[in-house]
Amino acid sequence: MAEKLPTKSFQIKCSCGALQGSADVVPADGNSRLSCYCDDCQSFVHFLGRAAEVLDGNGGTEVYQMAPVRVQIGHGSEHLGCVRLRPKGLLRWYATCCNTPLGNTVATQQVPFVGLVTACIDQTAIGESLDALLGPPKKGVHGRFAKGDRSGLNAYEKAPLGMIFSALGKILMRRLRGAHKPSPFFDGETGAPVAEPKVLSEAELREVEGRRDSWVEGRL
Ligand SMILES: [Zn+2]
Ligand SMILES: [Zn+2]
Repeated sequence: MAEKLPTKSFQIKCSCGALQGSADVVPADGNSRLSCYCDDCQSFVHFLGRAAEVLDGNGGTEVYQMAPVRVQIGHGSEHLGCVRLRPKGLLRWYATCCNTPLGNTVATQQVPFVGLVTACIDQTAIGESLDALLGPPKKGVHGRFAKGDRSGLNAYEKAPLGMIFSALGKILMRRLRGAHKPSPFFDGETGAPVAEPKVLSEAELREVEGRRDSWVEGRL
């Protein structure tokens, strides 16, 4: 079955510009843009020391869930870094040059999924709004971990089952179409992550979670 050509693309750029890439928006992939308020996504951004720039007022991280095969890191891939909050945790990718978060994947390229953190999209390079490019954000997930004033929060308390099944269905569909390789995050030959994941020690995790739990927007 011939796949439709990508209709749009965008540039990826870390804050310092040393790591750059691009991604194609393929509507048939069934991508979703939403914010995750879970405690671990918050911890990741606090680990990077980028809470002020990345998190919204309720501690949410906006991601664009897409297929890794659509993402290319064309420049500065030696700056790709990876951290796991716990030994079995998600692989959380970032630019080591300036601690810009890039995205979250599971630990194997067999699952064609990346939650690309939209903070790494070069918004000056897109000739339209993020809403026009990616579609408006859907209702967020894991709102029970949200910080601050929750009166304007647009998020489910957890991740609804229907949403999880829908996401799994899309992943399976991509897998069946062979859309899991290549991924910029895994070696195409060996399947190993391109950067050795750093697993936080218990003390490091506690330190990060301490900063997370005392965080209030604008006051660190
Ligand atoms: Zn950088
Ligand atoms: Zn999360």
